[in-house]
Amino acid sequence: EAEQLKQLIGQSSTTEDGHTVELVANIGSTKDLGTVTENDAEGIGLFRTEFLYMNRDSLPTEEEQFDAYKTVLFTMGDKPVVIRTLDIGGDKDLPYLDLPEELNPFLGFRAIRLCLERDDLFRVQLRALLRTSVYGNLKIMFPMVATLEEFRQAKALLEEEKQSLQDEGYEVSNNIEVGIMVEIPSTAALADQFAKEVDFFSIGTNDLIQYTMAADRMNEHVSHLYQPYHPAVLRLIKQVIDASHAEGKWTGMCGEMAGDEVAIPILLGLGLDEFSMSASSLLPARKQLSQLNKQTVTDAATTILNQQTNEAVKDYVTDQFLN
Ligand code: PEP
Ligand code: MG
Repeated sequence: EAEQLKQLIGQSSTTEDGHTVELVANIGSTKDLGTVTENDAEGIGLFRTEFLYMNRDSLPTEEEQFDAYKTVLFTMGDKPVVIRTLDIGGDKDLPYLDLPEELNPFLGFRAIRLCLERDDLFRVQLRALLRTSVYGNLKIMFPMVATLEEFRQAKALLEEEKQSLQDEGYEVSNNIEVGIMVEIPSTAALADQFAKEVDFFSIGTNDLIQYTMAADRMNEHVSHLYQPYHPAVLRLIKQVIDASHAEGKWTGMCGEMAGDEVAIPILLGLGLDEFSMSASSLLPARKQLSQLNKQTVTDAATTILNQQTNEAVKDYVTDQFLN
């Protein structure tokens, strides 16, 4: 079994009928790069940079961040590296920031909301990212975007910092793709409009599911409502993918769902371009994809989206595509 998987190293992630997708990895620190390389990731689909800020008592400096981002880019060579800007708040606290106590942290002051308000710390991160852009194939991603204005503000700050760096004599790449996570239903609903302005989407299903179903991802009393295959969730995913393709952009997924064997045939059928997962899931996913037929799963999409429940979708996919 393990030997069989090893034979997939160096191969592309291609279906039985010749459709190729990108299989990339989620990381939380440069320490994860060893297993990422061993498991033949085709890039990084999500670098959760908040871990650089956690378990310490002050903000990481521009230089510290620069070193970390550069290491990731350097290790990955010319492969794509999607680095997500700070996603703190919700379940992830930074004691030294003195964030307000909130009744509903998952609906509160977190991620891009905090970064736009505290642009002093956001600008430091943007500078570090921009400075590393000449060392590899960097893509920058903003988390928890709920409105077009938030994206525009974040992008404007990025442009300002780029200009400042260039004025200071730094070299900055002109080919940095700038995208957003789609993890809030408002953004999925307005995906056609976002798609005109962003370079890519990455669907964050860990949050998209909780916000769509109104079921806290940490609360065991409502975990039965946390339903990844619920047709409502799948229809949002389809809408996002279709909207990106209509504008010639690409859509990835970096929530847990992207590496899930029941979800993979569904997502392939909906046209997902990039699957980002923990390194240990990469080769099993490549194997599964090699045994799937893109045309068959595409034909099944309508049936899947017309199911009424999470269970019905799961049963249908298991019966049709898992052996
Ligand atoms: C997500 O919400 O799916 C995601 C990848 O982000 P995080 O799990 O870090 O919230
Ligand atoms: Mg999230």
